[in-house]
Amino acid sequence: MKIICIGRNYADHAREMKSAVTAVPVYFMKPETALVTGNRPFPLPDFSKDVHHEVEVVFRISREGKQIGEQEASRYFRKIGLGIDFTARDLQHEMKEKGMPWEIAKGFDHSAPVSRFLSVKRFGDIHHLSFRLDLNGTTVQEGNTSGMIFSIEAIIAYVSRFVTLRPGDLVFTGTPAGVGPVAAGDRLEGFLEGVRMFDFRVA
Ligand code: MG
Repeated sequence: MKIICIGRNYADHAREMKSAVTAVPVYFMKPETALVTGNRPFPLPDFSKDVHHEVEVVFRISREGKQIGEQEASRYFRKIGLGIDFTARDLQHEMKEKGMPWEIAKGFDHSAPVSRFLSVKRFGDIHHLSFRLDLNGTTVQEGNTSGMIFSIEAIIAYVSRFVTLRPGDLVFTGTPAGVGPVAAGDRLEGFLEGVRMFDFRVA
């Protein structure tokens, strides 16, 4: 399986990063070893002094497809969850300055904890879902999928021009404003439409 992540998909986060909003989705991938499930602790990596949380709505691909049309894209996912796109912000800045790929800042082991996945049917209109991240009991990020620049359908259509999507692949759909650093011992709780989806600690 692969983990596909969309960058700059909420205007407020693009602004806080001083990044331009792009005409097509910006995506990158994380390896399978980035995945953390079951509320296991996230181990802080030793190569960064500034690891940031980015809470994101995640869709799980349910069937194989290539060059999927935007109109058919809703048939390619059935489950939704929440995840964190952990980012070594110091390394990302360094790589951006050099014009190099972000891979080491984004695609490291354990950098993609995900919640349980629930049927999209449970949530009604997936284009108007509120979500948030609480850090040690205080809300630090709040978003609504209505704020996405590129919808999940547009993302599937775009990414599947380049790579075949397969069942089990995960799509992280971008983070709203409020990203910030985490430290050992922090507790992270993610909520989708008020439903607690994950609750884990930073180790
Ligand atoms: Mg992200």
